[in-house]
Formats: sequence, C-alpha cells, structure tokens
Amino acid sequence: MGFSFFASRAAARFLEAPEPPPRKKKVVVLGTGWAGTSFLKNLDSSRYEVKVISPRNYFAFTPLLPSVTCGTVEARSVVEPIRRMFEKKGKDVAYYEAECLKIDPTKKAVHCRSAVGTNLDGNGDFMLDYDYLVVALGAAVNTFNTPGVMEHCHFLKEVEDAQKIRKSVIDCFERASIPNISEEEKRKILHFVIIGGGPTGVEFAAELHDFLVEDLVKLYPAIEQFVKITIIQSGEHILNTFDQRIAVFAESKFQRDGIELSTGFRVIKVSDDSITVKCKSSGVETLVPYGMAIWSAGIGTRPVITDFMNQVGQGKRRALATNEWLRVPECDSVYAIGDCSSISQRKIMEDISTIFKVADKDNSGTLTLKEINDVLEDICIRYPQVELYMKSMHMVDIADLIKGGLGDSHKESMVVNIEEFKKAMCHVDSQVKTVPATAQVAAQQGYYLADCFNKKDHCTEHPEGPLRLTGSGEGHHNFRPFRYKHLGQFAPLGGEQAAAELPGDWVSMGHSTQWLWYSVYASKQVSWRTRVLVVSDWTRRFIFGRDSSR
Ligand code: FAD
Ligand code: MG
Ligand code: MG
Ligand code: MG
Ligand code: MG
Repeated sequence: MGFSFFASRAAARFLEAPEPPPRKKKVVVLGTGWAGTSFLKNLDSSRYEVKVISPRNYFAFTPLLPSVTCGTVEARSVVEPIRRMFEKKGKDVAYYEAECLKIDPTKKAVHCRSAVGTNLDGNGDFMLDYDYLVVALGAAVNTFNTPGVMEHCHFLKEVEDAQKIRKSVIDCFERASIPNISEEEKRKILHFVIIGGGPTGVEFAAELHDFLVEDLVKLYPAIEQFVKITIIQSGEHILNTFDQRIAVFAESKFQRDGIELSTGFRVIKVSDDSITVKCKSSGVETLVPYGMAIWSAGIGTRPVITDFMNQVGQGKRRALATNEWLRVPECDSVYAIGDCSSISQRKIMEDISTIFKVADKDNSGTLTLKEINDVLEDICIRYPQVELYMKSMHMVDIADLIKGGLGDSHKESMVVNIEEFKKAMCHVDSQVKTVPATAQVAAQQGYYLADCFNKKDHCTEHPEGPLRLTGSGEGHHNFRPFRYKHLGQFAPLGGEQAAAELPGDWVSMGHSTQWLWYSVYASKQVSWRTRVLVVSDWTRRFIFGRDSSR
C-alpha cells in the first residue's frame, strides 16, 4: 500500500521534472585530411556529438609535400596538429588516434583500432556508433598491380614519404661518391626516375632539378656529370589535366633543363636496379637502370572503402559513389567527401517525363517557352550539364536548345510536346563532368556538407524547398546540390618559374607566376604558425640554400 503511494508520488515528481534535452545526434568523422578538417572547421559542433578518427594526429598541407622532398620546406612546417586546430576554433570535438578498420552500415557503427602502439593489452580495438557518418578517408596509392612497385618505388602521398625521399636522394649522392665505383655504376645510382607525369610527378621533378643545380652540384662536383632525371609518362604529354599551353611550356622548360621525358611508355615491372618499360606504339620492351624511383602514377581505393562498397552493392566501382548532396545513396546516414568518393550526377534523361509534367502547369500536354523558362533555373541547379551544354554549343538561351530539336521555328510562339522536348535534351547528358581528386574539391565538399549539417533542423522543419525537381527523394535536403567552383590550379616548374591556370581560360606562366604561387600558398596556410614557418623556410632557402644533411 505504502509502496504504491510513494511510487505514484515519485512518478508525479518525475512527470513534473523538465523534459531532458533531446539527445544530440552522433556524428563520426573518418579522416583528418583536406575534406575531414574542412567539414569539422565549418561544422557547428554544439549541435552534434562529434567524434573524429584518424591514425595521424595532424593535418598535412599536401601541396607543399614536393617541397619537403628536397628540404625547401621542412616537414614540420606543413603539418598542423588536429587537437590544436579544434582548440583554436573552439570546437567541441573528441579525437581518437585510431584507424577505422570496417564500416558497418546495418549496425550504424565503425570498428576502429588504436594507432598508438600495442601496449593496450588488446584493448586498442573499439567500436563507435553513429547517427551520421562522414567518410573522408582519402585515396591510397595505386600501383595497378605492377610487379615490384610496392617493394622498390617511393611514393609521395604522406609526410613520411616526403621525408624518406629526402633521405634517399642524399643517400644516392653519398653512395655514388664512394671510391672504386665505376662510371656506369655512378650513372645508375644517380638516375632518378619519376613514373607518372601528372602534377605531383612534375612538381617533384622540378624540385629535384632545382636541388641538384642549386645545391648538390656545389657539394658533389665530382659526380655532377652523372646525374640524370627522367619522367616516364604513359600518355603523349605530361600535365594532361592542364591547359595544352601549360603542357607545352612545361615540356620545353624541362627539355632546356635536361630532364628527360619518356612519353608513350608504360612501366611493366620494377626490380631492385632496373625498370622495364614498354613502348606503347612499338611494343618493344627496354630495361632502364635506376638509382631511385618515385611512383606517382595514380590513386586507388583504400581497403576499408572497398569493403564498404561491397557491403552496399557498389563493388564494381573505383570510388565510393554519392549523390549530388554527397550522401551514399544506399544508406540514409552515410556521407562521403574528398578523394575517397565521387559524385554521380543524375542524368536529365532519367527524369525527363517528370520534368515535363512539372513544367506543364496547365496540363496541356505541351510546353510553351514561358513554361520552360519558369523551371529553367531549377533544371540548371539540379542538372548542371544543361548549362554546360548550352555554353559549349554557344547557345544564348533555352530557345536555342529547344529549336535544335524542333528545326526552324519562331522563338516566341514555340510549343513543344514531350517527344520534341526529349529530342532537344538528349545530348545534354554528354556534358556531365566528374570533379577531380584535388584538395580544392575536398575542401569545398567538406565546407558544403558542414553547411548542410548546420541547417539540417531548419530543413527538416521546412521541407518545401526551392527545388521542385529533385527527383531523388532527398527529403530534408531542400537546398542546392553540391557544385564545385574551380579556382584554378598551379604547376610549379622549378627555377623560380611556375604555370597557372586561372578561371576564365586564363593561363599565366613564368617567373611572375612563381611569385603568385608563393603568395597564394602562403595565404592558404591553415594557421599563422604554419604560415610563418613556411615563409621562413622559403627565406632560409633563398639565403642559405637547402640543407643537404639527412
Ligand atoms: P586526405 O587529405 O588524404 O585525408 C585522408 C585522411 O584520412 C587522412 O587524415 C588520413 O590519415 C586518414 N585515414 C586514412 N586511412 C584511415 C583509416 N583507415 N581510418 C581513419 N582515418 C584514415 N590538390 C590540390 O588541389 N592542389 C595541389 O597542389 C595538390 N598537390 C598535391 C601534392 C601531393 C604530393 C599530393 C599527394 C596531393 C596533392 N593534392 C593537391 C591532392 C590533395 O592532397 C588531395 O586531393 C586531398 O588530400 C584529398 O583530401 P581528402 O581529405 O579526401 O584525403
Ligand atoms: Mg579528409
Ligand atoms: Mg591532406
Ligand atoms: Mg572526390
Ligand atoms: Mg503547357
């Protein structure tokens, strides 16, 4: 009797007590590279319970890694500690120095293993559950299963790689300086081979060449004549993601510098002292003796991503596919950004009938020019390829595009039926562009996704957004899909020269561009600390040259 009296009193008091605040949603972020840190910096961390996993407790400013390989910039100057980054920004974030081994989308959890040694008595493994998962694991090196590459080549992906390269370059010079070494042997030891003529390979070649001519030849005058740098590129040109003018400029500068370009060759095997290359046109194989080889021929998928892709039915793809809102379509709460993912842009032809119906407000079965114009903005947001197509065909407005399907007719009185509308749009999807795997893209995606997360509540409450044509059922995402804004790209070419491709088909090359490069990269530093370090490294190099000790 008494018991029930107290129980009901307790229940009453409990009911009176203010409702506990709703549990914060858990966000787990995998990776602290360009994409992960950009997301975290922009995320309103008070709205979520945020946990971050990465085996490296720092962010690395990758564009300066080639400079680290030759000591132009010190390794310490290009990294920023993760905890410091959060503290400075006042972020309420938990960080664990660990590696994610497996993503389990059905249990909504990630399996992790501590990266801090093994003295944890097997307690180094742990699981974290999430409400939202942000996958920003970056890419792995890709050897295309070429035999010997893993064992004998250097890579240039992480800070440690750059430090190893620096040590190894000096090793080669010291080895070639030992007495009793034949000339042939010296030539072999001092042959530096770069496999892959993309931006990283090219920049490294330029950096190495500067190091040789500005510093090492003075220190090793007896062996200067034996040094050689070769770039092996399977395509016909180096820097083939850049404007052709830049590729031509870079090739002629390298020719003057004596850097050998072997274009049209594929590496088929690497042994401890030679590289087997095959000429793509003649099929003839040749052995290239080398002292040091750097593989920079492409990026691949990390095992944990491959495993996740298999689980969600994306097994046949090279990168994790997301929709235009950066969500993995097979899971309702997993997002992927940066090099580990790629956006699959929806084709307009898949939705053409829906678009027609939405546009045809008066249900007449035909569209007038006005009806089309009324939805055009939404169409261009949802299907950027429409705008790109019109631009590429020099079309001024949508009437030009429709006329393409209609033949000759008057713009104002134009009326199209569904078949004509389809015909007009059928080539548009050929303009779908994939975004490149760059820091610029990764950072913009991180920023965009954090913005989505910050506005999530608002969007759930106001599901009626500006986009009536989403066609993907992205309920709470009533704002614009991610759109990459290309701000240009640089290719430092050595000898205080650089090439730059700027928005608006602008190309600039030479010494002044190198100064532009210095100022852009100084301003892009993530903190004043690294900015001061980088600029003082550059100054030190100008005055005293590079440090050639190991
Ligand atoms: P990353 O920056 O690689 O970050 C991946 C993160 O995931 C890292 O923190 C890593 O430690 C972590 N991680 C890895 N495995 C696990 C795991 N199992 N569990 C948890 N965490 C994990 N781009 C440009 O735009 N301009 C340039 O000039 C430029 N120069 C470059 C030069 C070099 C030498 C290199 C290598 C790249 C360069 N890039 C440049 C490309 C750019 O660095 C990448 O596009 C960018 O780093 C991609 O960002 P991300 O966050 O996807 O991956
Ligand atoms: Mg990242
Ligand atoms: Mg990075
Ligand atoms: Mg990507
Ligand atoms: Mg109509």
